[in-house]
Amino acid sequence: MNRDLIVTTHDPFEATEDPAWTLADDSCDRLREGSREARFAVSNGFLGVRASRAMNREGLLELPPRTYVAGLFDTAGPNALVSALVPVVDWLQLEFKADRRAGPRERIALSPRRLRLDMKRGVLLSTSEQVTVGEPGLRLRTFHLVSLAERSIGLQVIELATDLAGATVSFEAFADETRSSLVRERLEQSDGAWHTSQSGKQLGMAIAAGLQSDGTSVGAPLLGPFSWTWRWSSHEGDVLRFYRIVSFVRADDDRPGVLAQAHAELARTEAIGWRGVLAEHEAAWETRWVQSDVVITGDPGMQQALRFAIYQLIGAANPADERVSIGARGLTGEDYHGHVFWDTEIYLVPFYVMTWPEAARALLMYRFHMLDGARAKAARMGWRGALYAWESADTGDETTPDHVVGPDRQIIELLSGKQEQHISADVAYAVWQYWNATHDEAFLLDAGAEILFETARFWSSRATLEGDGARHIRGIIGPDEYHENVDDNAFTNVMARWNMRRALETAQLLQERWPAQWDALSRRLALTATELGEWREAADTIVTGFDSNTGLYEQFAGYFLLEDIDLSAYAGRSVPMDVVLGRERTQRSQISKQADVVALLGLLPEEFPPGSAEANFTYYEARCGHGSSLSAAMHALVAARLGQRDAAIAFLEATTDIDLCSTHAAIEGGIHVAAQGGVWMTAVLGFAGLTLRDDGLGFAPRLPSAWTTLRFNVCWRGRRLGVSIDARERRLEAVLEAGDAMILTVAGRGHALAHVSVPLDIRF
Ligand code: BGC
Repeated sequence: MNRDLIVTTHDPFEATEDPAWTLADDSCDRLREGSREARFAVSNGFLGVRASRAMNREGLLELPPRTYVAGLFDTAGPNALVSALVPVVDWLQLEFKADRRAGPRERIALSPRRLRLDMKRGVLLSTSEQVTVGEPGLRLRTFHLVSLAERSIGLQVIELATDLAGATVSFEAFADETRSSLVRERLEQSDGAWHTSQSGKQLGMAIAAGLQSDGTSVGAPLLGPFSWTWRWSSHEGDVLRFYRIVSFVRADDDRPGVLAQAHAELARTEAIGWRGVLAEHEAAWETRWVQSDVVITGDPGMQQALRFAIYQLIGAANPADERVSIGARGLTGEDYHGHVFWDTEIYLVPFYVMTWPEAARALLMYRFHMLDGARAKAARMGWRGALYAWESADTGDETTPDHVVGPDRQIIELLSGKQEQHISADVAYAVWQYWNATHDEAFLLDAGAEILFETARFWSSRATLEGDGARHIRGIIGPDEYHENVDDNAFTNVMARWNMRRALETAQLLQERWPAQWDALSRRLALTATELGEWREAADTIVTGFDSNTGLYEQFAGYFLLEDIDLSAYAGRSVPMDVVLGRERTQRSQISKQADVVALLGLLPEEFPPGSAEANFTYYEARCGHGSSLSAAMHALVAARLGQRDAAIAFLEATTDIDLCSTHAAIEGGIHVAAQGGVWMTAVLGFAGLTLRDDGLGFAPRLPSAWTTLRFNVCWRGRRLGVSIDARERRLEAVLEAGDAMILTVAGRGHALAHVSVPLDIRF
């Protein structure tokens, strides 16, 4: 990127005008402050900054400001049960004082912030004013960002405009490390270094700040560790600009040099100044939006929600770091301790695979680096192969807590770390999707095949042959976590079967196309023809719970005998069903926490014989309590594919409401990033009906009644194409923007898409 060429021409303190690109909040309701901090967070896959308030020298804030660094996990403090993401130094603090000749030295009270999240530019803007009635004013316009161009960099800029004449204004910018559990090694004026107490990681930070009036620096500040204080005598009409640039560097070992690296990163950005940092960041966002935006006409509210979803997805990933994945709340909050679940592989990877394959690759490489942990977990539990951690942090070790406080405040034993084993098949599923969509041979040979083999090996040892001649998986938890310790969960068993079959397909592919690599890998993993035969036999004999008479999968053995509760009798409830009924009764009922058989239908529709998809959706949808934020999105996707447009849009709205509806204060712990991934999935995989085929891409568009057009871009095996669906014209238009000719199958018919930028019109 040529830095000289990048110039930002707009007013950087003003949000993009189009409301579909911005999120606004002018409220000052303290009860919603935590949710606001999460909703308005900025992140770039390495740094995440919640929209916390500044000005807290004297502890004025109810909630601690938070900046997170991806991968910085630690088991800190005597009460810590599991490894958790640790917040780092808060680098955004400020304090003003106005010293009037007439009165006492006083703090300047600021009005509530007006927040604008500019999703197009990846910037959080705020404005506030001095509110003392009858006094001359002080107006603040601020923005901050974490750079998408240089992920180690954060930038804050504040414009101070004052009508205050003859007062001594003091402005202090400082950083606060007191709320971080990191162990300090050094704290100087412009840098700091810390290490974690248990996990052997280091963090280095360098920081630079300046205050300018009309482009020239305002006096010399008073300096302290991490602190700059300016004092000046105010004049009416003064406009000053403060900037602060920070760089963070994480090291996963004790190698020297984090601080030097932080300084080097900072020096690079200081050379281009804050305007250069901003311009590069905006250019990086623009590039991402070109590839990832989804444009709908006819539903402005949903357009804004879709942008919010994509904004979250772009900000959650870092293609340059294979040592981290995306936690259930991204880098926007501390719920689930920053841990990584199946959320990533099932709800997020599809977006990255289709619009940002480099990010998908890094996420899957993270799982590859965690393989040893997964092998150790399987071995510890008496099985072979790789059983991934249900909750994963930075080592591959299981980090699910043993006990948690349940929704009814009771302390309950949490079995998912031991029993929720579908995670291994979910990882394999994502590996296969990535391979299928990219044909990234280096990835398959270096990492993907090994994941597929080790997970298949796990399933063939886990599914045991019993007296009935069939393989069974007993003592398991499926996606529906209300039911524990069940046998033959259909989701798990069918995914396991699929996993073993894809591993066999991969073995055959390697044998045929890359025999030398097959020899080396099979030798290293001690994979023999006998073992491949076992996988085949296990896949062929594992029970699935499918009843060909009814066309229904039984969610797990004995499920149909459980109490059948009419959920419609509980419509309008504000708490989850396990709180309404109590844990025990819920377990004795058919009520599920979230999509389970429906999730299987979402992932592997080909495992449902013709006609049975509707039957399963109807049966299980009526019994789902949606006690997880993942649930409505999967129902939206499946309903959209089944052509149940009204149901689909209702589930989609329920999904977007999770993080955007401000009537309840539910998201203080962070954005539900899987639900956001589900929003993209519903639009593209659901309403546009995009499927990955061996010979190309398939589409089966069925737009909701309000949507007149739907447009988006996707990548497929080195190609880039733009897709536009017009519901009124009943027409799909595809343009191949890069790459070789390919086949598009629309509503069952194949069409050649040539390597030319000519629209291809396909009626459906
Ligand atoms: C859900 C899981 C999910 C986790 C993190 C739980 O409540 O049941 O499926 O992985 O939250 O989002």
